[in-house]
Amino acid sequence: MTNDCYLALGSNIGDREYYLRQAVCKLRQHKSLDPVRLSSIYETEPVGVTGQPAFLNMVLHLKTELTPGKVLETTQSIEQGLDRVRHERWGPRTIDLDILLYNDENIKMNELYIPHPRMHERAFVLIPLNEIAAAQYVSNYKQTIQELTDQLSGREKEGVRLWRKCSGRGGFGLFEN
Ligand code: ADP
Ligand code: MG
Repeated sequence: MTNDCYLALGSNIGDREYYLRQAVCKLRQHKSLDPVRLSSIYETEPVGVTGQPAFLNMVLHLKTELTPGKVLETTQSIEQGLDRVRHERWGPRTIDLDILLYNDENIKMNELYIPHPRMHERAFVLIPLNEIAAAQYVSNYKQTIQELTDQLSGREKEGVRLWRKCSGRGGFGLFEN
């Protein structure tokens, strides 16, 4: 499969690890998606809407034949299948699947912005992404993921703690059905 796509996964309701695991299983089952690399799982302080439970976050690199719009359709249907109810923006959720990067393309469609508009300032995205794609250059920001990560403040980095180490191809063991 020819296109490189990075997804961010997050959960902060119920059995958070279960929801991450289910989402990864469903992505792996899709015939036009080939997940090739996972970050570790991190526990992170909520950003934006505070006073909600801590998140588990991770990042996934997948190869795909799908267009960005079709990837979004797929991730939204996986969210819906996993009890996702949309209440408030940035509020608590069982599972959130965001498209971070699609090759090095800049996409501005009605319902789809890639690179994800807030990824460059979010420690809970950059720290796991840096684990698996540090050298990836993002032309929209004219920087690599490593450079973006280095610009996070100490305080932002402190809100993101390693929760379960499971990076690399071997990491998929945790996500077998
Ligand atoms: P958020 O992820 O910002 O907390 P939601 O998951 O509820 O909020 O997403 C809100 C909308 O963001 C979705 O309806 C989707 O169309 C839009 N969106 C725009 N760009 C992206 C992207 N890169 N990945 C995922 N959703 C996106
Ligand atoms: Mg989202």
